[in-house]
Amino acid sequence: MKFLEFEAKNILKAYGVPVPKGILVKSIQELEDALPSLPEKIVLKAQVDVGGRGKAGGIIITDKERALKDITDLFSRSIKGRSVNSVLVEEALEIKKEYYCSIIVDRKEKSPVIIFTDEGGVEIEVTAQKNPHALRKARITPLLQNVPDFILRSLLRGAQKEIGPVINALFRVFVEKDAILAEINPLVLTESGIYAADAKLIIDDNSLARQGITVNRDLTERERTALIHGFSYVELKGSIGVIGNGAGLTMATLDLIEYSGEKAANFLDVGGGADQERVAHALRLVASDPSVKVVVVNLLGGITRCDEVAKGIIAANVAPHIIVRLAGTNEKEGKIILESQGYEMVSTMEEAIQRACQVVK
Ligand code: GDP
Ligand code: MN
Repeated sequence: MKFLEFEAKNILKAYGVPVPKGILVKSIQELEDALPSLPEKIVLKAQVDVGGRGKAGGIIITDKERALKDITDLFSRSIKGRSVNSVLVEEALEIKKEYYCSIIVDRKEKSPVIIFTDEGGVEIEVTAQKNPHALRKARITPLLQNVPDFILRSLLRGAQKEIGPVINALFRVFVEKDAILAEINPLVLTESGIYAADAKLIIDDNSLARQGITVNRDLTERERTALIHGFSYVELKGSIGVIGNGAGLTMATLDLIEYSGEKAANFLDVGGGADQERVAHALRLVASDPSVKVVVVNLLGGITRCDEVAKGIIAANVAPHIIVRLAGTNEKEGKIILESQGYEMVSTMEEAIQRACQVVK
């Protein structure tokens, strides 16, 4: 789950990282009330959970006089499709130099890796491509309490030594918060020292409970409902709804859709032994996504019985066109039930997807 900048900064602050003075406002009025206590030069930062807000118009460097007009504008903007509900108002920093520091999981090495560069100020992806040697990396075991000095020295080389404790704190945040990403970009040098000017923190969804988080904000309403029912359900960007049983069959269905030049709107794995009621739930959930134009139901009957599936499909009674491919246990019975109700049946997965693509077009 992603934390917003102000949340990530509050955590960093608690771990001893200097962050700019700031307040969170949720309305123009709140900024107006706070204005007297603010410094002359301020930055307005839209709190939306996407990167590259600066380029997308989500960061405004301004002053007290123009602030109310600017924040009115900011609240009315949409930043990469996200509406702005809160704005972090901070003292503007006089930036002398920008650094980049992040910690991610190196999946191949099964280890956290710290990435640092003193060539900040450019997008990190650009630096990684054009000047990969500028990125200094160090893998480190999460069993350590601190980043050893020799690792800090190898990361920093000539850079400000005050950055050492910041990297150390970021590492502790990464480990203790069960993060999969902890990033300070930019980490800036000013006349009065080093500050985290921006912060990003994503924690592993598998440790939400351990972190005391009961609701994963990043899930849509439908994804939450699916979780309650025990379905594996993920929303994507296309227009074909997919229901399969088993991860392998479901992924193969998605691959074939992609290969055919279309995109899935979502996919749901009903798992093994789904009965009528479960199938109906699954289909209603998938079909309730407004981007779904057609649903492909691709199920293999093993412990799942095709006649149960057929009854579930009929019981769901959803609006989008459904293309059904059933094979295995009680296949014949299932087909008879569905065909008698006018449902479109195909006998292979390839056919199902070919038809779905035609319907979408
Ligand atoms: P992002 O685009 O979502 O990563 O948002 P950032 O918080 O990183 O802001 C984008 C850029 O705005 C930074 O890389 C800085 O160059 C600049 N910026 C952010 N805060 C300040 C500030 O207080 N003073 C100045 N001068 N520039 C800032
Ligand atoms: Mn940033």
